[in-house]
Amino acid sequence: MIAHRLCYLATFLLGSAFAGGPLSPAERELVESISANTLRGHLSFLASDLLEGRDTPSRGLDLAAEYIASQFRRAGLEPGGDQGTYFQNAPYLKITQPMEGFRVRLETPDGKSWESAGPKVMAITNAAVNVASLEVVKVTLQDKDSPLPSAELVRGKAVVLYMGRGVSSRALIEMKPALLLTYAVVPPTPYRLRPASAPAPPSAPFLLTADTEFRKLFDALPNGLTPAKLTANIAAPVEEPIQLRNVIGKLPGSDPILRNEAILLTAHYDHVGVSPRGDGDRIHNGANDDASGVSTVLALAESIGARKLRPKRTLVFMTYFGEEKGLLGSRYYAAHPTVPLRQTVANLNFEHMGRTDDSEGKREGQITATGFDYTTLGEALTAAGAATGIGTWSHPRNSDDFFARSDNQALADAGVPAITVSVAWIFPDYHRPSDHWEKIDLPNMEKVVRTAAVTVSRIANNETAPQWVESHPKVKRYVEAARKLHTAD
Ligand SMILES: [Zn+2]
Repeated sequence: MIAHRLCYLATFLLGSAFAGGPLSPAERELVESISANTLRGHLSFLASDLLEGRDTPSRGLDLAAEYIASQFRRAGLEPGGDQGTYFQNAPYLKITQPMEGFRVRLETPDGKSWESAGPKVMAITNAAVNVASLEVVKVTLQDKDSPLPSAELVRGKAVVLYMGRGVSSRALIEMKPALLLTYAVVPPTPYRLRPASAPAPPSAPFLLTADTEFRKLFDALPNGLTPAKLTANIAAPVEEPIQLRNVIGKLPGSDPILRNEAILLTAHYDHVGVSPRGDGDRIHNGANDDASGVSTVLALAESIGARKLRPKRTLVFMTYFGEEKGLLGSRYYAAHPTVPLRQTVANLNFEHMGRTDDSEGKREGQITATGFDYTTLGEALTAAGAATGIGTWSHPRNSDDFFARSDNQALADAGVPAITVSVAWIFPDYHRPSDHWEKIDLPNMEKVVRTAAVTVSRIANNETAPQWVESHPKVKRYVEAARKLHTAD
């Protein structure tokens, strides 16, 4: 690995020098091979009702994965997944809570009580819970500076809890209460997902309810040790093994040295599925979020894959499962990379590439990225935009705030310069069933995907690899991760 380390040092000394300037004849051919119709074809299938919102896990998600793999085959990519396939299998557990015999009851000596047999309570537990007439401690944590009760008071008792926004329950859990019962919005997902290789995180049984009757009784209790008693019967959770899949195709680089470095081009192919309740359309088609990013990756694979002269660096085209469930697919890949991360010099992740009706105003003829000035990738995008007639912009707040909100974060945490490229941050149908492919601005999307193609082509051919901008105050941890990645044995 010495050669690579030297190369890394050299890029530090040279700084960034992205080839700018107008399009070369080869780049012109490349951009002309990307058409709105290609994008429309991919979008209209991936965002069709048949795929039922591509929830993780679901049959619709599997259909999308098979489609993406077939497009990688068509583009002539090499399989980049497990055992000569396009699929990287991620063993997961789908954890559901049986509700038979479920009962939780809170009562006070003066005859007030609250009881639930299920639907209004979500239980997160690693094992069965059977407790009767437990002592109850009330804790209110308005914000992260709210004082905690003592560990002796909490240990072995039931804690009824109110937590303000952004407050963590970790410190309380470490005090080993018998269980926690909190007033909170119950997430709509009736199951949890956990990598099969990860042990269950140590935790106290955690019950959430948004029942206002519970809130009334909670409000009537004094802080600290209360006269109330709690009884609960909860069955052990059921763990079902499932396979989730990242879809990966590779285009080997043409340069004998630079081909050992890879650029990841990614998007998430999952979305949030079907609303369990409601009138009318309940299918969240996720056209802009993120069939548009997947269509971008597919169009790039097809167009770059068809060039006679392949780029010097290796390109890895990848679509992830489980972004909407908390960056699951990209976290899995970063922990199990199929191309070593120290040979991975950049990640361009694509999200929201289709809609120009940003909630803050029209975004035609423009492209942006999260962490726009964290890496030299922002400059590369700007230079390619200048050559293709697309402007770049950086949102004063969102560019930084959205950095952690997509799959680039998993790679950035590992030290790889990684950004998410987008046209609009928030748009009117964001995470609604009405995110339909007919609303995509296809002429604009054709232009910005062409800009992306030129960006990719240039960073794949440039002698200098993309880098973190070390002087930026927000990238310290990523620069540190990059150093670790490149100096580890
Ligand atoms: Zn998304």
